[in-house]
Amino acid sequence: MTKRVVLIGHPVAHSLSGAMQQAAFDHLGIDARYELWDRAPIALAEAITELRTDDFLGANVTIPHKERVVPHVDRLTEEGHATGAVNTLTKEGRKLVGHNTDVPGFKTALDQLVGRQKMPRTAVVLGAGGGARAVVYGLIREGFQRVIVFNRHLHRGESLVKHFGRSASHMDLRAMPWHESIIEAELSKAKLLLNATSIGLNSDESPVPAEILNPELLVLDLIYAQTRLLRDAAAAGCGTADGETMLLHQGAAAFTLWTGQPAPLDVMAEALKEARAGGLTSAEGEGGVATAAGTGGEAEPTA
Ligand code: NDP
Repeated sequence: MTKRVVLIGHPVAHSLSGAMQQAAFDHLGIDARYELWDRAPIALAEAITELRTDDFLGANVTIPHKERVVPHVDRLTEEGHATGAVNTLTKEGRKLVGHNTDVPGFKTALDQLVGRQKMPRTAVVLGAGGGARAVVYGLIREGFQRVIVFNRHLHRGESLVKHFGRSASHMDLRAMPWHESIIEAELSKAKLLLNATSIGLNSDESPVPAEILNPELLVLDLIYAQTRLLRDAAAAGCGTADGETMLLHQGAAAFTLWTGQPAPLDVMAEALKEARAGGLTSAEGEGGVATAAGTGGEAEPTA
């Protein structure tokens, strides 16, 4: 019987995950089908109940459900528990286990960006949603000493900091109000800037003015595109990376959890590129298109 794996989000039509996961199943001859389920929050509980039946290997969970799904699972892994956000579900019989593979995906992306340099200890994180939770947890585990979280709605940044209270008790983890002058002051002290907002996903905007980026910074944008932030950062002399590595590796980790097999990374990376070229846009289900003004104005797909 063909097994089913689903992506539950709202919306999901533009997701890149389907192409990447289906290519991996097909390549390894696994009889499984990856489906996109667009479910509004009100329909989430019913969707989760359906997953408990035998046809399903598991699921991915994306915007806006990553935090909402937590009370619906029977067990959380350490990463699911620590972040309070779940992007992958596996089955233990009829029981559901909640994982967060954005955490290992982010770790691979961070390691690649830092390369042979010394791992920085200070970071500014823009955003406080599900992606930011994986990022902040990754930074805590990596031994960062000072992490400042800026979010448009300060209370969400404060909730994130509160959530990590105990695991971050040895370090300086703070939420600050989104004011350009405060971001600038913090960036002058930090070595790493992470964009975990969706600014740049649907428009050619940057969350911060180009003038406040200094060449000492490493900049990682979780969005899977050459966003304005990344172009400004490269122009300022910063090291940069987009969300591709994180997207690929969170997907690879999920694939291994469902199948018990190593993920065919090359096949998945190729499928991602093809899906982007074919107009699919989002790891996170959003139908955004950022304009890559720096590359001749081509439409660039996003994470
Ligand atoms: P959420 O919806 O949980 O959070 C969205 C974040 O963006 C919030 O911090 C929100 O702030 C902020 N935001 C949105 N619009 C604006 C705006 N106009 N001005 C200021 N802040 C804004 O989404 P996720 O955390 O899951 O995803 C965030 C981004 O990260 C997306 O672009 C997504 O594609 C990307 N991502 C990429 C991954 C990858 O594998 N490469 C993995 C996970 C995420 P507020 O709380 O104030 O609304």
